[in-house]
Amino acid sequence: MTTIASPDATELQTVTHSYEAAAGAIGLADDLRTVLAQPYREIAAQVPVRMDGGGLRVFTAYRVQHNGALGPFKGGLRYHPQVDLDEVRALAAAMTWKTALTGLPFGGGKGGMTLDCKELSEGERQRATRGAMRGLEKVLGPMRDIMAPDMGTGPQEMAWLMDEYSRLVGHTPAIVTGKPLDLGGTCGRVEATGEGVAIAAREAAREAGLELPGARVAVQGFGNVGSHAADALHRLGCVVVGVSDIEGAVYNPGGLDVGELVRRARAGIAGHDGLDVERITNEELLGVECEVLVPAAVGGVIHAGNADAVRARMVVEGANNPTTPGGDAILNERGVTVVPDILANAGGVIVSYLEWIQNTQNVQWKLAQVQQELEQRMTDAFGVTHARSLHERCTLREAAHRVGLERVAAALRLRGFDIY
Ligand code: GLU
Repeated sequence: MTTIASPDATELQTVTHSYEAAAGAIGLADDLRTVLAQPYREIAAQVPVRMDGGGLRVFTAYRVQHNGALGPFKGGLRYHPQVDLDEVRALAAAMTWKTALTGLPFGGGKGGMTLDCKELSEGERQRATRGAMRGLEKVLGPMRDIMAPDMGTGPQEMAWLMDEYSRLVGHTPAIVTGKPLDLGGTCGRVEATGEGVAIAAREAAREAGLELPGARVAVQGFGNVGSHAADALHRLGCVVVGVSDIEGAVYNPGGLDVGELVRRARAGIAGHDGLDVERITNEELLGVECEVLVPAAVGGVIHAGNADAVRARMVVEGANNPTTPGGDAILNERGVTVVPDILANAGGVIVSYLEWIQNTQNVQWKLAQVQQELEQRMTDAFGVTHARSLHERCTLREAAHRVGLERVAAALRLRGFDIY
């Protein structure tokens, strides 16, 4: 992405900022505050991969387990050229607050490998993925730490991870979630994050007195999250006026052909030939006239240097950490409602939980049951967050972090965290 012009904070600083603010607001005791400020465990494993041309490349697979007071660590595995330990740390901590806020019996973790998928053949990607599992296997397990897709990974990577783990320790579908349907995956997982974004937007719009039918939406990032969010919002009657991907952004104030854009994205067709669109830059997309803006790509895209240009009434964070603290302060000051990442994009991990339940019980649910659970859990999480924000006159982001942090802190206290 070329949109990161001048972020005023790294993703780790962004996550830490929210944590510190919540810890202060709930009066978290110093001992717990110190424990939760750091991850429980971090691993960096060497992953040597024989490349197709015969040469060897050595990648590093990271897994950060932030906190497991509420249950096994849970969170995705990200492949991206800029992944580093600090980014994985930030994302792991965010998972702790996300699973707690949504009432899931999981802690928070995240994995990552610094690689550019576009540079690797399928065989190389498979060997790297299996290598990551071999390097991390000792700290994973269906009751210990469960990985899932994130940026750059999807059902195929999950299938390889599941297979590699099963070769090492015996058949274990519940070792990862986000698997293909034919391999113990659940109905509704691929679209879950995007569907959840739309549910969060719908709830926030209702509270803000914004009519979603006819509301204009801009979606930054048209990968798994962005494309399904656009599709779901379109079904709710929104007019999607702008979307962007790595190749650039397209705009049509009268509404884009969402169905065709989604079809092309699924088929891997690049470009927008034959569509009635105006080309704009990624940066311009963030500032288009619209009611709802959904950043659904990388972190740090809305920052102190560009938050003033955002025209939307509502920002619904499909990505993790898309808004820096500086950008957030400007949006709040301007009265823009921000539905924070740990709430807005929780649909993915919610349906991962449903997949894990099915795997541990050897059952397969119908799509309608998954959708109903997702709907219920998203609206409950929104309701709790919104009520808290009204009660304490704080933003949805502050409220979400306070609720999540309180639940984790209570579990840690009950378990006894300082016995060693
Ligand atoms: N990677 C997703 C997230 O950031 C999903 C994690 C999961 O399903 O465990 O929430």
